[in-house]
Amino acid sequence: MKKVLVVEDELSIGKLLQYNLVKEGYEVDVVTDGIEGLERALSGEYTIILLDLMLPGKDGMEICRELRQEKNDTPIIMLTAKDSEIDKIVGLEIGADDYITKPFSPREVIARIRAVLRRLNKPEVKEAPIDLVEEEISLNELKIYPEKYEVYVKGKLIDFTPKEFELLLYLAKHKNRILSREQLLLAVWDYDYSGETRIVDVHISHLREKIEDNPKIPVYIKTARGFGYKFEVPK
Ligand code: CA
Repeated sequence: MKKVLVVEDELSIGKLLQYNLVKEGYEVDVVTDGIEGLERALSGEYTIILLDLMLPGKDGMEICRELRQEKNDTPIIMLTAKDSEIDKIVGLEIGADDYITKPFSPREVIARIRAVLRRLNKPEVKEAPIDLVEEEISLNELKIYPEKYEVYVKGKLIDFTPKEFELLLYLAKHKNRILSREQLLLAVWDYDYSGETRIVDVHISHLREKIEDNPKIPVYIKTARGFGYKFEVPK
């Protein structure tokens, strides 16, 4: 049975999650304190962890970071109360798999859990048969090596997080086409609904900082106002 650990100090939210997850067939443990949360999480017996950000004892980010340091790769969905914390979570790349902003509906949480687990069950890129080996993509001064997960800008190797890399690769493979935020969300994050497209914008701005000479006047990743983004190859 799939076991969910909920680390949340607000009892009403913990109970709401527990009630709905149990109804969906999950086994659920709720703890209200960060230190106990970390201990439980380290046991490795959970399929997924829902982790509140602000907690007594130890906050969610610390827990997440410590788990990853301990090479515990249980998927984590962060629960955040403030929109302003999203940048922090995404920006710090603390190793969470997703985040949900409060207030959320139980339905949304369940959809996210499914999406995260579905994503993890996908076969690894590395297991692709030899004839599917992806060639390098060379776009002016930008070079992408899909197999090695490497990107060079003007001959310099640039660090990308896995999601940034996937997003860049998707954009590059669909160059000169306008792609909606929803389309990018589905392709890169595997969400089948359009509630949280802000994560796309945050990642686009990270990509621009990494590949554009001037992120404010991008030449590769253009904004298609009201629609989404378009990847162009500058002349
Ligand atoms: Ca809290």
